[in-house]
Amino acid sequence: MSRHHVWSHLTPTQLENLADFGIDPQGSARGPGRAEAVAAAEREGHEWVRFDEAQISEVAAFGVEREVAQGEILFSAGDDDPSFFLVLEGEVEIFGLSDGEQVAIAMHSAGHFLGELSLLLGQRPFISAVAASAGRVLVTDPVAFRHLMSTKPEISDVIFREFVARRGIVNAGPGSGAVRIIGTRYSSESMALRSFVNHSQVPHVWIDLDEVDDAATYLTSVGATAHDVPIVITATALLRGATPADLAEVLGVAHHVAPGEISDLVVVGSGPAGLAASIVGAAEGLGTWGYDRANVGGQAGASSRIENYVGFPNGVSGDDLIASAAIQASRLGAVLSAPNDVVGLRVENGYRVVVLADGSEIAARAVIIATGARYRRLDVENLPEFEGAGVYYSTTELEVRVCEEGDTIVIGGGNSAGQAALYLATRARNVTLVIRRGNLTDTMSHYLIERIEADPRIQVRFNTEVTALRGSGHLQGATLSDRKSGESQEVACAGVFCFIGAVAATAWLGDTLLLDDSGFILVDRSLPDSVTESPLFGGREPFPFETSVPGVFAAGDVRSGSLKRVASAVGEGTNAVRSVFDYMATIT
Ligand SMILES: Cc1cc2nc3c(=O)[nH]c(=O)nc-3n(C[C@H](O)[C@H](O)[C@H](O)COP(=O)(O)OP(=O)(O)OC[C@H]3O[C@@H](n4cnc5c(N)ncnc54)[C@H](O)[C@@H]3O)c2cc1C
Repeated sequence: MSRHHVWSHLTPTQLENLADFGIDPQGSARGPGRAEAVAAAEREGHEWVRFDEAQISEVAAFGVEREVAQGEILFSAGDDDPSFFLVLEGEVEIFGLSDGEQVAIAMHSAGHFLGELSLLLGQRPFISAVAASAGRVLVTDPVAFRHLMSTKPEISDVIFREFVARRGIVNAGPGSGAVRIIGTRYSSESMALRSFVNHSQVPHVWIDLDEVDDAATYLTSVGATAHDVPIVITATALLRGATPADLAEVLGVAHHVAPGEISDLVVVGSGPAGLAASIVGAAEGLGTWGYDRANVGGQAGASSRIENYVGFPNGVSGDDLIASAAIQASRLGAVLSAPNDVVGLRVENGYRVVVLADGSEIAARAVIIATGARYRRLDVENLPEFEGAGVYYSTTELEVRVCEEGDTIVIGGGNSAGQAALYLATRARNVTLVIRRGNLTDTMSHYLIERIEADPRIQVRFNTEVTALRGSGHLQGATLSDRKSGESQEVACAGVFCFIGAVAATAWLGDTLLLDDSGFILVDRSLPDSVTESPLFGGREPFPFETSVPGVFAAGDVRSGSLKRVASAVGEGTNAVRSVFDYMATIT
């Protein structure tokens, strides 16, 4: 084991406490760095980066040196705006939270810097730092730290890589108990919380009450009751009936706009198109704020494997691609806020005003709409009973784990349905692919059809619909109806995955922008002359991706005529920023 790395595991008492309830304390956080961290742990230790004299003097220009006393707390889990610390003399011990107790994770000494990815993502810290001996530290406040990260690329690269690795170590080790989510696997509220922490790369432990031996006693032991589920416990809060928005507030990632604050660019939606726009906007110096009603990632975050994205010969999981993009956006200075539902848009005093669900309003010089599309809901009577409890619209690890070893149904004839069926076939007992049409060739890529035909675990039912769902508390079966013969068959199933008919996420726009007949946003050349020749455009042509309202752009799946692919969404988000600059040149 490295001299500088003390890897501590749960104390025997903590293990006993959890074992009493039959709980296996597994951190379930995902995200970049985890694989590296596990590998590092297997190699018995990660060598903490130690700055040399030259690097220390570069950082010193941004901070203030001060003495620390033994036992002094430099920062605690849950603190607001923690500073960046570099140890100059003495030792500082790092603690993570596990089952409500502090667990030592690391010991840092001269030349080591403190903290992990939360400092870059704007999350409150998940770990605490205590001086193990008297010494000296260099303290860089959050504003100066951002300045350091944007002006010293060599130092910034080292810090960034180390922070990502450290997040992996926290996720894979005892520090993952920083956030405890207690719920039941068939609850859509619990699923929403887990999806939020996974997509936000928050270290956490998931405790499934369905697997706890005596759930009532366990809940009492944490000061809660069955009425409070889902519950989230952090270093500073116990949230009852917790929602992702409550948790975002506690984690410090809910973005509150100061009165009178104006953004250069607001990006609505943080799927691939919105993330690309946020990354490029921030990189080009625009004050860029991104809002997503659910999670960062959009549909791409719902994909188990994206096989046609350039540069990933073995494909890439949507989660991994999105996690990296989200870190990149934050690192470049974009503010990403989720969950934050945008409910309206208007033009006022030359600004585009974006209205959030909580009533707050943000004035922006330009807006890029990247709200994408979502899959149509199944048309069966008791659907709400099973959404999140057996009926799903994505195939990430969270949903697939619920149906593992059971029979599943995938509905839809497009590529996303094909991919979902193939992925589920590797985990579930049997997969039935249900398609309304009589063939796959009209709607699915050839390579997917070939793989589906070759997979003995996938059965394809053409001209078929799911017409009923049944189960008690969670999905246990469905009715399949043959559209030609009219015959129905009841089948057992643990999960129904819907990938039918994408609907544009534009209802929130009302009649603010011109849409096509299917509700997708019309831009540039697809706009009618009556709009482009109106005084609004001042005699100029609309810029690429510009909508019927000058200064408002649309990119990705939400745009009329888009290709509905990750790569094209990324390209459109990127190019829309180019048009934002062209537009700004006309108003300044
Ligand atoms: C299961 C699945 C597998 C797929 N596999 C592939 C593949 O292998 N290869 C490929 O190229 N493509 C694939 N796709 C398609 C690809 O994911 C999409 O084309 C791409 O994600 C579109 O990106 P986008 O940013 O335009 O929109 P989206 O990804 O739809 O993102 C839009 C975002 O906007 C948010 N939003 C919506 N309304 C609001 C609002 N009012 N306020 C705030 N936020 C809002 C949503 O929550 C969402 O996060 C797949 C899609 C799915 C579902």
